[in-house]
Amino acid sequence: MRVLVTGGAGFIGSHVAEGLVSAGHRVAVVDDLSHGRRENLPEGVEFYKEDIRGGCAGIIDEFRPEAVAHLAAQMDVRRSVAEPDFDAEVNVVGMVRLLQNCALGGVQKFVFSSTGGAIYGEQDEFPATEAHREYPISPYGVSKLSGERYLHYFKAQHGLDYVALRYANVYGPRQDPHGEAGVVAIFCGRLASGETSTINGKGEQTRDYVYGPDVAKANLLALENNVESGAYNIGTGLETSVNRLYRLLREGSGKDLPPEHGPGKPGEQLRSCIDPTLAAEKLGWRPETDLRTGLRETLRYFGAL
Ligand code: NAD
Repeated sequence: MRVLVTGGAGFIGSHVAEGLVSAGHRVAVVDDLSHGRRENLPEGVEFYKEDIRGGCAGIIDEFRPEAVAHLAAQMDVRRSVAEPDFDAEVNVVGMVRLLQNCALGGVQKFVFSSTGGAIYGEQDEFPATEAHREYPISPYGVSKLSGERYLHYFKAQHGLDYVALRYANVYGPRQDPHGEAGVVAIFCGRLASGETSTINGKGEQTRDYVYGPDVAKANLLALENNVESGAYNIGTGLETSVNRLYRLLREGSGKDLPPEHGPGKPGEQLRSCIDPTLAAEKLGWRPETDLRTGLRETLRYFGAL
């Protein structure tokens, strides 16, 4: 299959591109390298350095993808709060232009990197299923939810099949420390350089941590199989507090560096955890890497072992 991966020079996108190449697909990556790195690109992919806000018409015309895995995004929640207009330009307008060109260019399937935590907002149920009410509390969550709504429209109007993968907090090798789950990368970097880490507030806020290469596998399953169009949670269903996360990393690295506690971040979501049961049923996806193993691989990548 010919697959265009947007954001393929980034953390998760490069794992997706790698998985696709290994499975024998023909892959092109489009990335403006605003956060991604050329070194992340696997051998054998075609590369276009371009901003998706332009809509990628020329690339789709030239490469003729059968499917698109869309990962390029403004993905910093705090930046979305500071610059909601920029967030919408990339995550809404850029995505809509891309979808228009996909529909015109005969693309058959669109796999979208959406978000669980940011779309559900403060949860009523733990873990949240896909039926949980959607009340994003950041412009980033709003723009991702809007992307999902456009997918529904393009399916209804143009027959473009789609799978929206609602990720929990993704961590792992190649992660940029500025993302939604940047905390793992930040702690690993600090442990590697022997610096003290700061935990915001009491550190009892929880997240659902899912391993990047497992998330890449969900993309492959969604691309390769006949999956009913819709949204699927890609998480573990397990909650881990920041205190426990740091403890695991500290133990894993063998470095005796106790953390400091700083002031809490106003407006920060307290708990987040999503239920992956539907993805298991419909996609055949399950998280395969337990937290300890994933953190060990991440520590190794950051040179903290
Ligand atoms: P990342 O920053 O490593 O990857 C995003 C890539 O997109 C980068 O390589 C960046 O250079 C590229 N990019 C950004 N804006 C672009 C633009 N306008 N045109 C072309 N390329 C552009 O981030 P990631 O963690 O790999 O995230 C990938 C996707 O997964 C994003 O859509 C993000 O919203 C989503 N997601 C991530 C997490 C997480 O925990 N990391 C959680 C939920 C959803």
